Amino acid sequence: MIELRSVTKTYPDGTTAVDDLDLVIRAREITALVGSSGSGKTTVLRMINRMVERTAGVIEIDGSDVSTMDPVKLRRSIGYVMQSSGLLPHRSTLENIATVPRLNGQHKSLARTRALELMDTVGLDRNLADRYPRQLSGGQQQRAGVARALASDPNILLMDEPFGAVDPIVRAELQRELARLQQELGKTIVFVTHDVDEAFLLADQVVILEERGRVAQSGSPMDILANPASDFVANFIGADRGRRQLHIENVDGTRVLVDVTGRPAGVLSK
Ligand code: ADP
Ligand code: MG
Repeated sequence: MIELRSVTKTYPDGTTAVDDLDLVIRAREITALVGSSGSGKTTVLRMINRMVERTAGVIEIDGSDVSTMDPVKLRRSIGYVMQSSGLLPHRSTLENIATVPRLNGQHKSLARTRALELMDTVGLDRNLADRYPRQLSGGQQQRAGVARALASDPNILLMDEPFGAVDPIVRAELQRELARLQQELGKTIVFVTHDVDEAFLLADQVVILEERGRVAQSGSPMDILANPASDFVANFIGADRGRRQLHIENVDGTRVLVDVTGRPAGVLSK
């Protein structure tokens, strides 16, 4: 579990990006932080692994205050995936994936074997191991970024708009893969996105942020859809509301969920 209590970040230029945030992120679940650009999502994520130092408040991982931990060790023990894969351009895919285990002193041949296994895990063909990042497609780069984040077998994975830069079809594929991976791995994942659909699709817990990291609402996708806590939330999730409004039709004795355009969205079990 990750817990933030009264956490504030004011950058040196005086910008308060996050103001007095309380948040509990449950273990082995996907928590999505969703909010407009500038709402403080990246700042929250980076305070967890101390890439950004908080100005006030307490952040604990399983009851231990992160401020008492060695920041380098902390960072290497937590997987981090960013929007642009963040791969090192002059290192092969395999070397990129093996970076942290190598930094941690793992033997080269073991790191290599493990990196190849991780390529399988994230659905990257092993033939791509010796390619450089620029020789990979956007989707492949993101998969490599996820493999690299998993390489030290972290309990926690921080993902900052990881699928934001790929086209919609690849994006949907990566979303499905992440859902599958999570079923297998059971990590504690903090997933940042500005896309409400993506948050509802992937997350067990959705946290909707207003400016300065103020929590407008947090809950399961169902809770939030059924009971938006404020006009802000209703508006935020309401951009696609029309499409989400579903009704039930009876088709030959089977109850089918149908959206406003008349397309079937699913079947209700009896
Ligand atoms: P998000 O990820 O939701 O877009 P950020 O956490 O990146 O939000 O930014 C939140 C606010 O903090 C924004 O107003 C942004 O301009 C500001 N900010 C982010 N990083 C810095 C920085 N290094 N120095 C000053 N202000 C920053
Ligand atoms: Mg951001």
